Order: sequence, then structure tokens, then C-alpha cells
Amino acid sequence: MNRTKDSSTSLRIAIQKSGRLTDKTINLLHGIGIEFDNYKRNLMVKTRNFDVELLLLRDDDIPEYVQDGICDLGFVGANEVFEKDADVSVLRGLNYGRCRLSIAAPKNGDLQVAEDFEGKTIATSYPFLTNKFFEDQGVNVDLVEISGAVEITPQLEVADAISDLVSTGGTLIANGLQELFTILESETKLIQTNKELSPGKQKLVEKFLVRIDGYQQAKKSRYIMMNAPEDKIELIKDIIPSMKSPTIVPLAKTQMVAIHTVIPYDKFWQVMEELKSAGASDIVMLPIESMIL
Ligand code: ATP
Ligand code: ZN
Repeated sequence: MNRTKDSSTSLRIAIQKSGRLTDKTINLLHGIGIEFDNYKRNLMVKTRNFDVELLLLRDDDIPEYVQDGICDLGFVGANEVFEKDADVSVLRGLNYGRCRLSIAAPKNGDLQVAEDFEGKTIATSYPFLTNKFFEDQGVNVDLVEISGAVEITPQLEVADAISDLVSTGGTLIANGLQELFTILESETKLIQTNKELSPGKQKLVEKFLVRIDGYQQAKKSRYIMMNAPEDKIELIKDIIPSMKSPTIVPLAKTQMVAIHTVIPYDKFWQVMEELKSAGASDIVMLPIESMIL
């Protein structure tokens, strides 16, 4: 039988074409072993070694493309997913593109608490979330929808305050604004359409998730190696916050062993100090590319 490849079995994944999420998403995809090039020039990119094609879009459009099933998966900020009120499933939070949607008003002005905003005008690119926030507070506001440079609007007297994405807060300060409330904490999410996928595609999604989980776990972990006197093994084992029991290898030098294990990165410095005082030496820490548990 002559079987041609059924293109509908390819997973179609939406990513941001050009912006703050692009490099990190591309790095993640490369990091989980998906190979492709020329993504800067094309809107659709075939990958070489995984049954995936990438669609490069404006981030605002991604929730809808995934909702409508034009793309099966998408990488996009929670801010866009919730602003578009998209009917999609959030599969994973991805720990990059972190920011928050906040209300900010001129520093030391009259607007300090939610009630002060009654009848005021707020400029935003996030009308749905902003409106919902004030509705929940029982406060009536007028929204001016603006697609960029929202932070300048109070100076131009276009609005009394703004609702905008903030990461460090530097842009707000530079524009004489003060952050007052957070509407939403956001990070990049991997989303899936709620339209039914073929069993073949669903299997691909599961394979994709195993790789993502392995990649994320690896990012949070470090491989550590050390030498230690044999009679300190038990003491050292108690210190190591390891997932599994460590590998212990005898060294040519008598009564010494090498201990290898994986630990959470955020524990490394604390653990290293404790290991040293317990008698470990030559402690080496290495990054891990990926790990499958
Ligand atoms: P596009 O052309 O794709 O519409 P954009 O200009 O709307 O791009 P970017 O500025 O590239 O979007 O931001 C993309 C996403 O990055 C945001 O939706 C948000 O999830 C995240 N992000 C992280 N930090 C910030 C920040 N300080 N300001 C804006 N977005 C941020
Ligand atoms: Zn956008």
C-alpha cells in the first residue's frame, strides 16, 4: 500500500513571531530536541525531526488560533489567554515571560484606593481584564483602549490612570506613575485547543509534554559530584536533598569515595556549605540538558 504522510497528524504549534517570548520559546523547542530553521523569514516552519509545524503569529492572535483549533498548541502569556477569555486548556506554566497586569496612577496623586477610581478614565490594552477587575470592586470606570505606549497617556491627559503590563516597574517610574494594584500575575503558558484531537495527535502532545517536563526539571536541577571519606557517607547522604539515592564509587585512594547525585538548584549553595563541613571536598556542580524521571 502506498501511504503518503497525512499532514493532519502533524501537531501545529503557535508561537510569537517576534517579541519578548520568541527567543525563549525557540530555545525551549530546540532544548527539547525539535530542529528547524528559517523561522525569522517564514510564517509556517516545518520541523525536521518531530511531527510538528510551527505557526509564527502575533501573540494577541495565539489564544484564538488555538481556541478555534487552527493550531493544536500554543505558547503565549497568561495575560493574552485570559484577556481573550479563550476556550483552551492550560497544560503547563513555563516560568518565562513573567510580568503582571497592574493599575498605575500618577505618583502621589488623588488615586490611591479602588474607590478613588469611580468615574475615572483608564487607558489599557487589556479592556476585558481591567473591566472585570473594577466590576468586581463595584467601581465604574471608563476605558480607553490603546495598543501601545499606554504609560504616556496620563501625561497627555488622555486618561487618569493606566492598566498595563509591568515587569520591573522601571517604565512606570520613568513616566511618573505609581503601581497600585495587580490584576493578574502572568507567565508564558503552553495551551491546548479544547477541540478534539485525533489519537495520533494526542499521542504527540503527550510525547511533547514528557520532553517539556524533562527540560523544565533539568533547568531546576544540577548534577553534583564530590569526594568524601568513606566513613562520612551516611552523614553526607542525610544532607543531600536528592530525588534518588546517590551513586557512590570507590576511589583509588583508600577510604575515599566519589558521590554523584542530582539536587534542586536553589538548594545548591546551602547544601554545598553543609557538605564541606561534613568532610566532602572537590565539589563540582554541572548543568543538566534534560532528564526523564
Ligand atoms: P506582537 O507583535 O506579537 O503583538 P507585542 O508587542 O504585543 O508583540 P511583546 O512586547 O513582545 O508583545 O510581549 C509579549 C508578551 O511578553 C506579553 O504579552 C507578556 O506575556 C510578556 N511580557 C513579559 N514582560 C513584559 C513586559 N514588561 N511588558 C510587556 N509584556 C511582557
Ligand atoms: Zn501583542
